[in-house]
Amino acid sequence: MKTFAKITPYIKQNFRKILFGIVLLIIVDIAQLIIPKIIQYAIDGIGTEGFTKTNLFYAGAAIFLIACLMTLLRFFWRLFLLGVAWSVDRNLRQEYFDHLISLSANFFNKVKTGGLMAYATNDLNAIRMLIAFGFVIGVDIILITIASLAFMININLRLTLISIILLPALTIIIIILGKKIHLRFSKVQKTFEALSAKVQESISGIRVVKAFVQEEAELEKISDPAYDYVRENISLIRIQGIFHPSFMLIIGLSMMIVMVFGGEAAMVGEISIGEFIAFFQYLGMFVWPMIAVGWVVNLYQRGTASLKRLNKIFEEKPEIANEAWVDYFISKLNGKIEFKDLTFQYNEKGPLIFENVSFDIEAGKTLAIVGRTGCGKSTLIDLLTRVYNPPKNSIFIDKHEIFKIPLKTLRENIIMVPQDIFLFSQTVKENITLAKPDASSEEIEDVTKSAQVYDDIADFREGFDTVLGERGVTLSGGQKQRIAIARALLTDSKVLILDDALSAVDTKTEKLILENLIKLRKEKTTVIIAHRISSVQRADKIIVIDKARIAEEGTHKQLLKVGGIYKDIYEKQQLEEKISARKNKDSGS
Ligand code: ATP
Ligand code: MG
Repeated sequence: MKTFAKITPYIKQNFRKILFGIVLLIIVDIAQLIIPKIIQYAIDGIGTEGFTKTNLFYAGAAIFLIACLMTLLRFFWRLFLLGVAWSVDRNLRQEYFDHLISLSANFFNKVKTGGLMAYATNDLNAIRMLIAFGFVIGVDIILITIASLAFMININLRLTLISIILLPALTIIIIILGKKIHLRFSKVQKTFEALSAKVQESISGIRVVKAFVQEEAELEKISDPAYDYVRENISLIRIQGIFHPSFMLIIGLSMMIVMVFGGEAAMVGEISIGEFIAFFQYLGMFVWPMIAVGWVVNLYQRGTASLKRLNKIFEEKPEIANEAWVDYFISKLNGKIEFKDLTFQYNEKGPLIFENVSFDIEAGKTLAIVGRTGCGKSTLIDLLTRVYNPPKNSIFIDKHEIFKIPLKTLRENIIMVPQDIFLFSQTVKENITLAKPDASSEEIEDVTKSAQVYDDIADFREGFDTVLGERGVTLSGGQKQRIAIARALLTDSKVLILDDALSAVDTKTEKLILENLIKLRKEKTTVIIAHRISSVQRADKIIVIDKARIAEEGTHKQLLKVGGIYKDIYEKQQLEEKISARKNKDSGS
């Protein structure tokens, strides 16, 4: 029953509705069972004494009224039972999404987005179908089977026994084929997941695909999983193709038996003609649960396969969570950051990213991190913000060991503009106010001015209400970066980190933004990661990372005196600037 652990609370919550739906369903079933009896009464009545047109009319009216009642009640049980299924679907979907969001960044490195989407579509559908029709068919099977069998026995025991003699064959088919269906359906879902993942990747990478003229190659890459999906589906159809027709065959045989033996019994007067016809109808009803059993087995197999797959995701624990020794009283941070003897590698077999790295930055100061690409600058920040877990006792904020600080406090106080910026396809305003939805227009204006993006936004047709991304305006790299900076500035956090967040901005604009930052963040800690020395030279402290260690540390002036990596980079950039200035001049004259 562990498989159902996720949905039982929701079923319990909706217990009354389900019960009510089932009661209505039972009434419909009973009404349905009465109709053949009325027909039997009418047919056997015809020709007997005292049976008039009025009796026929009454029989007809009774059938009509029962049909009306059934229509009405069918509407309501559907409303209740299918409604419950949809509400469980919604709750489960929400829970699934909540869970996904709680998982660590690293989880999403391991799994494919398309696959996760498949869970939310195909699998949730299969689960909903199971809930929606599981109850209905369950009740139908039990009630109709027992009742129609009772009516049949009541008409004639011998005939009943003969007509259901083939039943065990149905059970055998269900047992043998049901397992296979389950297995093959799991395979279908797996291939669907792979296909979705591939398509999702190709579409999100469409720019690269086009830039490298890889359309054909991408199509080919999709063709394999698409073919797998078809193959697995065909393999499933093969089983289902045997499953349903073999039911029909057995039903046909039963009908034949009733026709021959029942007809004979009616001819010799063992049963009346009305009973013979009613018997046929009851057999028809009795057969429905037999078909339904096949269907419900199918639903059950699919639903549980999907539930198991979903449960696997639910079992994923967030790697990054508050530790047992977290101190929930820490709700504010000042912004003094200390790294002590940090040694880190992503995985045991991988290279050492940091080896005994120690440095600190006082609250309210600006720290710059410089180093070759791939030296670990972003990693350092990911450890500080606990996107990845650092080793214990290696990072301290305001003297608190980082694991003592509740994640909520950490995330609220340390705001980062990441290297790969993501903007939602919402309005400019919604993107900027992401972490502070109630910000006033003045505040929004101020931060966009500080981030030097106000004029750009004013030029958009709908200003701050312009929709970005898929549904709207496409921004340049520099515009994206500056909107992301405005978004971060709005939070006015104790610690602000810009991870290469000025790389796509020209040097003049960069200078203006940096000047504003100095003004705005006088009392607050700011960390700037950059490749351009122009971005970092005014920092209170600059650290240069090289070969997993801090190679140099100091102010711009001090580092130039040291004459190491920093000075080297600085001189090269100066030279580059001179050359490009000369080029501009030459081409201008
Ligand atoms: P850049 O200046 O290009 O942004 P960086 O200094 O920010 O580079 P990092 O992104 O921190 O460099 O990466 C440091 C090293 O860690 C790289 O060799 C990278 O391949 C590796 N790395 C980064 N993220 C992961 C990860 N999730 N798992 C394993 N290795 C990783
Ligand atoms: Mg980086």
